[in-house]
Amino acid sequence: MEEKQKTAADLRREALCYQPKNGYDRLKPEEEPAMRAYCEDYKKFLDAGKTERECVDEAVRLASAAGFQPFTRGMAVNPGDKLYRVNRGKAIMLAVIGQRPLSEGVSIGAAHIDSPRLDLKQNPLYEDSELAFFKTHYYGGIRKYQWVTIPLELHGVVAMKDGSTIPVAVGAGAGDPVFTVDDLLPHLAQDQVKKTLGEAIPAESLNILVGSRPFKDDEGADRVKLAILDLLNQKYGIVEEDFISAELTAVPAFRASDVGFDRSLIGAYGHDDRVCGYACLAALLALGTPRRTAVCMLADKEEIGSEGVSGMKSAAFDTFMSDLCDSQRVPLKTCYENSFCLSADVTAAYDPNFAEAYEKRNSARINYGMGLCKYTGSRGKSGSSDASAELVAFARRVLDEAGVVWQMAELGKVDQGGGGTVAVYMAERDINTLDAGVPVLSMHAPFETVSKLDCYMTYKGMKAIYEH
Ligand code: MN
Ligand code: MN
Repeated sequence: MEEKQKTAADLRREALCYQPKNGYDRLKPEEEPAMRAYCEDYKKFLDAGKTERECVDEAVRLASAAGFQPFTRGMAVNPGDKLYRVNRGKAIMLAVIGQRPLSEGVSIGAAHIDSPRLDLKQNPLYEDSELAFFKTHYYGGIRKYQWVTIPLELHGVVAMKDGSTIPVAVGAGAGDPVFTVDDLLPHLAQDQVKKTLGEAIPAESLNILVGSRPFKDDEGADRVKLAILDLLNQKYGIVEEDFISAELTAVPAFRASDVGFDRSLIGAYGHDDRVCGYACLAALLALGTPRRTAVCMLADKEEIGSEGVSGMKSAAFDTFMSDLCDSQRVPLKTCYENSFCLSADVTAAYDPNFAEAYEKRNSARINYGMGLCKYTGSRGKSGSSDASAELVAFARRVLDEAGVVWQMAELGKVDQGGGGTVAVYMAERDINTLDAGVPVLSMHAPFETVSKLDCYMTYKGMKAIYEH
């Protein structure tokens, strides 16, 4: 075979130019089975966790199987210990204690497990024109027009006055009914089609159809609503007033599926941010005894600003960390100032169908690996923690040494929009923090798409950060 002689320009180009390659041109053949197996496990995690509560339950199940124990204040903590603490059923913190003392800092992978959805209002059930509906209040940044005429499942809990909690999950089980929000037929949409996408489906029209059959042998009012209440009472033992202390949420009734003839992509509800949450968790569960202590934080409420007692702003994280530090008589502030956090959250993948919203040179590409974001935010980097150059250099070194396929990512064109992550709240704690995560197509849609290669590389990257 004749080998083409490289010109002087070829050699200089190789040496000087930044020319990222498609991840499939860099993936080692022996990594393929690991990538496939990882993605199968991730799909199972998605199907098991449609809400933050269900994700926490699943994380506890997986962690327990991997030898993790609940961590309580005052417990002795030794290298190799695998510990977790659940925050109110909605967030979870896990740690694998390292060989080095906590005064040398910890390596944190922080992601969120809440996703955009339709929450039920506290007085949701009503009847109109002999159809029964639930009123909803959407959670997170949804594009409302995407949530009509798709099958929905209902998940959540009803908390009773006696202190008991009744779990609800309808739609995911075999033979379960599903629910839906209806939309106008095109034949009568003359006026609706003239409205903007943002106005065409008002929030107060996102009402979920839950039934149509009237209560039998009755001539009173609201017979369909009564029949639904009767069914709910038989199944769950609840009455209408119990909705007041319920958290019920409608989520898309899609199972995680391979997308494409080549099965290179995964379509599912909730990739944002369970795709990074699962990477942080799975990488932690796979650790032996790392040099530094590794911590995985799966937070709630990111989609509504990280507020609340289960969000990243909550002191629950600091309490967990300070309880760990107390066991080694290390001041929390010393641990924090020497720690590193990878704020693992999804980024926008370049979408050629909407090229006008992206700046191609700086956008994350599908199959180009884990996307590092020096900054997020909007307009003039507003709302971003903007990691230092030194921190990005550190990540480049750790990821390159571990053979991770990664890329730089900026979310769309400047002034086109923007977004934030939990990074700012970690940085506020005096923890060096860098954003990174999986590029997503159709982010926040009921059915989001990611690449298997990017999922696997984010797992591999997270493991490298824990193990550095
Ligand atoms: Mn996110
Ligand atoms: Mn989001």
